[in-house]
Amino acid sequence: MRAVQFRAHGDRDVIGYDDYPEPEAGRDEVLVDVRAAAVNHLDVWTRRGLPGVDLQMPHVPGSDAAGVVREVGDAVSRFEPGDHVAVSAGVSCGTCEFCRHGEPSMCVDYHLLGEHVEGVHAERVAVPADNLVAVPDGVDWTVAGSASLVFQTAWRMLVTRGELRPGESILVLGASGGVGHAAVQIADYVGCEVFATASSAEKRSYAAELGADHTLDYEATDFADEVRSLTDGRGVDVVVDHVGAATWRDSLRSLAKGGRLLTCGATTGGNPETDVNRIFWNQLEVIGSTMATPGETDDVLGLVWDGTFEPRIRETLPMSETARAHEMLEKREGFGKVVLRPDSEF
Ligand code: ZN
Repeated sequence: MRAVQFRAHGDRDVIGYDDYPEPEAGRDEVLVDVRAAAVNHLDVWTRRGLPGVDLQMPHVPGSDAAGVVREVGDAVSRFEPGDHVAVSAGVSCGTCEFCRHGEPSMCVDYHLLGEHVEGVHAERVAVPADNLVAVPDGVDWTVAGSASLVFQTAWRMLVTRGELRPGESILVLGASGGVGHAAVQIADYVGCEVFATASSAEKRSYAAELGADHTLDYEATDFADEVRSLTDGRGVDVVVDHVGAATWRDSLRSLAKGGRLLTCGATTGGNPETDVNRIFWNQLEVIGSTMATPGETDDVLGLVWDGTFEPRIRETLPMSETARAHEMLEKREGFGKVVLRPDSEF
């Protein structure tokens, strides 16, 4: 069996696609033949090395995958061989106070498949049954393998944590990325006026196709000024910022009084300068969110499986070209998800 793996942290040249021990399903696990597996920014961070995360090497990355059940462990009743499934990467302890209150993504021991433990960018994987979602037959493998992480993240952030309401205005930064392009679709579905930023005319036209009412070029214009002028000086009710340091102050500047700044990441750095005066005077809220509950994940993936939401596939590559897939994310080439498939599928 072959798996994407690296033996040390570093640049893209540490990534290999080599033989790896055949996985076996434990009592609570399911053995899955992987058909498609998306790359997330998280895989890039994991490869470079995250502070405080000490990985066993070689490490198999990957938090998103879909495939066919080959075998189930003795204690598994939810799935049987032949079922189509998708991976949901969050692992929680089930016993801490937050898990007990139904908030597994707040678990004190929360971790992700692929980030802290072995991931799913491999021909075959053994995954806890709790980390699998059923996929209806007929859903395209690239869709099934690329929706889970970004759509559950965007759904919880906008709907549960952000309490987004019809008629509100929302600015989504980085609409060409995985979470961004999911957020645009969800905001449009809720019935919001959607503003989205992207760096090229082509990316902005994709964002418009997915439901953005206004698209802004953040490289050519000051997006906060642009948002103010498009809203008669008012600002928007909600900003989604997973960019971090490079955009934080302008995100705050884009908000109307009483506005909410939602964050689920900081790809350009996690310690931006902030504007405390603006936060208290305009009575802003800063709301963090990460991943989702199994119920939230079921809700949003149901809307992916029925075609309401659509992960946009920017490229499908064989697993042996994973380094190129990472490069596309690092250089922000293209729009939507980069998907890997085992070389044997090509
Ligand atoms: Zn817990």
